[in-house]
Amino acid sequence: MSTTETILIVGGGVIGLSIALELRLRGAEVTVLSRDLQQAAGYAAAGMLAPQAEAIPPGPMLDLCLWSRSLYPGWINKLEAMTGLTAGYWGCGILAPVYDIPPSLDSDSRAAYWLDRHAIQHHEPSLSSEVMGGYWFPDDAQVDNRALMRSLFTAVQDSGVTVQDGETVVALLHQGDRVTGVQTDRSTWQADHYVLAAGAWSGDLLPVPVHPRKGQMLAVQAPTGKTLSLKQVLFGSEIYLVPRRDGRIIVGATSEAVGFTPGNTAAGVRSLLERAIRLYPVLETYPIQELWWGFRPITPDEAPILGFSPYQNLALATGHYRNGILLAPATALLIADMIFAGKTSPLLAHHCHTRFGFKEHEST
Ligand SMILES: Cc1cc2nc3c(=O)[nH]c(=O)nc-3n(C[C@H](O)[C@H](O)[C@H](O)COP(=O)(O)OP(=O)(O)OC[C@H]3O[C@@H](n4cnc5c(N)ncnc54)[C@H](O)[C@@H]3O)c2cc1C
Repeated sequence: MSTTETILIVGGGVIGLSIALELRLRGAEVTVLSRDLQQAAGYAAAGMLAPQAEAIPPGPMLDLCLWSRSLYPGWINKLEAMTGLTAGYWGCGILAPVYDIPPSLDSDSRAAYWLDRHAIQHHEPSLSSEVMGGYWFPDDAQVDNRALMRSLFTAVQDSGVTVQDGETVVALLHQGDRVTGVQTDRSTWQADHYVLAAGAWSGDLLPVPVHPRKGQMLAVQAPTGKTLSLKQVLFGSEIYLVPRRDGRIIVGATSEAVGFTPGNTAAGVRSLLERAIRLYPVLETYPIQELWWGFRPITPDEAPILGFSPYQNLALATGHYRNGILLAPATALLIADMIFAGKTSPLLAHHCHTRFGFKEHEST
């Protein structure tokens, strides 16, 4: 492709913006159309970079996640150098405490290190006395996803990408096997190449099997004057605690198949608080600072849909479910390589939409 060609990205979440930046840095003219930048799951997330704690089974998805985790420090350095803004990366490791010792520790392939009760209590003295041991994943990490989104947005704008916020794409226009434009609620846009990166809403524009999976979250603040004891992520049973360097602790998350139903519920918040206090009892005195929710884009096999679409000039980058923050740098490289150099890696091939039997020309 020549560098004068134009690329239009639908969706200004972490995936759309990451791809936009990579394409722009390679010389393309890039436009991002987004209904609402603040609606993106990237703002709602916890920012864990946790392929091991998430217990992703061995295979192409784990390979993709581990590769993306390894790209993170360099990617963050680049963003911070471009913008002067911190993107909040913290290689703090993730501790996964358990209340019941697993029957076979050896067979658990995700175990980087097993800590017995004594060792884990020594490692994190404020843990519940119910904790019987846990796994320590020193290579898993976190990023302050809101700081990342700010830094990414600034980098995208400073590099010359056109970001059109507040504009909803209502249809992909096509002729034969080519997309010829996008119809928005205001106008029509055209480009040489298109990328669908609309997160949980992607199914509105193409019959891809991507659906919303709601997650409720809250944040507490360690009282001022107290030094924060929590210095790594705690990844418990159906609960995680993600400490930020400023003393905030992000508590997440519910996982609810309720469509796009907005809002925090009493039951959702209660379940988060009960599980968090059980795991880390000192938290019960910390003031609640904020409640929010977001929609993860889930697919039937919980892995993203990347690369080719039924249309020659449309790339898919959606369905990142619980790992979209983690997978942003790898997704950006893979999609840019595909559009710019026609390169398809095995990681793209494994994550192609065809694994769901999604046929040619099924589009709107
Ligand atoms: C509670 C919660 C916790 C999470 N925790 C983590 C975590 O710890 N680690 C991790 O790696 N991931 C986590 N995730 C997942 C991660 O946030 C998502 O996978 C990721 O943000 C998806 O990025 P995206 O760009 O595809 O979609 P989004 O970030 O949702 O962005 C999609 C964008 O597209 C726009 N859009 C949609 N439809 C249209 C349209 N028709 N026209 C124009 N624009 C449109 C939207 O307005 C939005 O701005 C979490 C998610 C949630 C909800």
